[in-house]
Amino acid sequence: MPGVEFDVDALRQKYAQERDRRLRPDGIAQYVETSGVFADFANDPWSDEEFTREPLTDDVDVAIIGAGFGGLLTGARLRELGVQSIRLIDKAADVGGTWYWNRYPGIACDVESYVYMPLLEELGYVPTEKYAKGPEILAHCKSIAEHYDLYRDICLQTEVHEIRWEAELQRWIIATHHGDAIRARFVAMANGYLQKPKLPGIEGITAFEGHTFHTSRWDYDYTGSDLGKLADKRVGIIGTGATAIQCVPHIAKAVQQLLVFQRTPSTVDVRGNRPTDPTWSESLPDGWQRRRIENFQLLTAGGEADEDLVDDAWTSIVKKLFLMRQTAVEGVSDEERLRAVEMADFAKMEEIRTRVDSIVADPATAEALKPWYGYFCKRPCFHDDYLQTFNRDNVTLVDTKGKGVERITRGGVVVDGTEHNIDCLIFATGFEVGTDYSRRTGFEIIGRDAVTLTEKWSDGVRTLHGLTVNGFPNCFILSIAQSGFTVNFPYLLDVQARHSAEVIAWALSNDVTQLEATVDAESSWVDTVVARTGASAERAKACTPGYYNREGQANAKTRQGSFFYGTPTEYADILDASRADGAPEGFEIRTGIPR
Ligand code: NDP
Repeated sequence: MPGVEFDVDALRQKYAQERDRRLRPDGIAQYVETSGVFADFANDPWSDEEFTREPLTDDVDVAIIGAGFGGLLTGARLRELGVQSIRLIDKAADVGGTWYWNRYPGIACDVESYVYMPLLEELGYVPTEKYAKGPEILAHCKSIAEHYDLYRDICLQTEVHEIRWEAELQRWIIATHHGDAIRARFVAMANGYLQKPKLPGIEGITAFEGHTFHTSRWDYDYTGSDLGKLADKRVGIIGTGATAIQCVPHIAKAVQQLLVFQRTPSTVDVRGNRPTDPTWSESLPDGWQRRRIENFQLLTAGGEADEDLVDDAWTSIVKKLFLMRQTAVEGVSDEERLRAVEMADFAKMEEIRTRVDSIVADPATAEALKPWYGYFCKRPCFHDDYLQTFNRDNVTLVDTKGKGVERITRGGVVVDGTEHNIDCLIFATGFEVGTDYSRRTGFEIIGRDAVTLTEKWSDGVRTLHGLTVNGFPNCFILSIAQSGFTVNFPYLLDVQARHSAEVIAWALSNDVTQLEATVDAESSWVDTVVARTGASAERAKACTPGYYNREGQANAKTRQGSFFYGTPTEYADILDASRADGAPEGFEIRTGIPR
């Protein structure tokens, strides 16, 4: 790699050492659920605690569980196809999903807003910045709901308790904490992937007597809306993932003292945010967003294009790494290709580490902030102020050298035998991944023959196209498992929303009462997914622990629940082709049973 020199053997050894010191036998069991004594960490700070309503027992054509991007997109695409009877259901007090819950200071999208924020052309909106901030994205979610009239029958502040298929009625019955028994011909599960906050099960975690909360439930009553109430506080934050990277610079400016407790440093590359140029936004031709999204998808999923419309750190990395490329390259053996990928990855990571040295003044702090693992082992991060924050006099990095926080006491946090006293402890410790479906969602889906989705997936996820499941008729599950690879999650959600909406609208207009993925179609999709995850499964094994690789304990089950790796738009093309002739392929279809 021109311009970058490194000792390959030494790097391989260093990566392996760093990984080994982070591996723990308890894997994902090291985290505790935000329920019971920890329930407060997951409570909704934005809801109306007094809210009540009468139970509903009415009948809708489509119930959509979750009113984030996935639910809004499904609702929008259904409306475009003329479906009127739609009910969104969400435990939150408004639409927005991730953007409803996460309101920590500094929150912004980390994929360019012109491709990340869906339905921009449909709403005639252009974001104000290349990487829009959280409040603007939340406002856009509300605009989508208004534009497509999705508030009409919505049920907010409604926690689903159970979704059960009633074969005789050919309906799903949705039971909620309001005593509802809503009947739905179809259900679309758009209830999120990273949605249930988790906490590390650190010894003494319940002993802390100061104030504490999780970043996804930011306590502005305590901090003040401008964080002004933190001026005389010593604040600690546990976690240095994508959330912490965005909020740490803001907390640092507001507090008397900030202690950042780090287990593994993130990669922090250049952001380069800028306001939207009005001359550019006014000159955008019809179809601009679709073209931009497809170009971004192509370039970040290993394809090639004549132009790079987004032209940011994401597209530049993938051009350098070709890491996403799952397929063979003509004239290059697999061995040569994998070696080239490894060399490009080392070079990229050297660049990231050199950036730390060029910004962070104290050499020991700079050393501790350097990540030693393959670039895509963790979510890449981008920020122009995060590393600079460690040059402030009121900020201390407390590096746990991969071990994590040792203990929490009444007054603070212990690392390596030293107690650090603090007034407030913020958990930037992410969300549950890999736990059972019902634990993450708080409810069970009970399909045909009373089989639950948790039981059905006890040996691994099984779906047709990552969306429908044998035994669960008229049910669409929007998620990343067995679905097309992307770094731009709303792109995937829209592909799935369009497909689900097309199939549902077709079924409604053809008097279809039951539509269920066949065993054969489901098995064939599962086999395809598993066969294609070989290279990424091997890479994941060598990665530092994290939620991408089940904390270093990736297994056959994890592999089965992985992305469908194909060419950049192959997944969308497969879905389109499967319904090109009207009736969707891979389903057993029944018509004419009671309505
Ligand atoms: P993550 O799971 O990425 O990070 C959790 C952090 O907590 C890690 O740094 C982890 O360390 C640390 N941690 C866990 N246990 C301990 C412990 N015992 N002691 C010390 N540290 C500990 O959560 P995030 O909320 O940061 O991000 C989750 C995902 O949300 C991202 O990957 C991204 O996909 C998404 N996101 C997207 C954003 C956007 O702009 N679109 C912004 C923010 C998040 P370790 O790494 O060692 O496990």
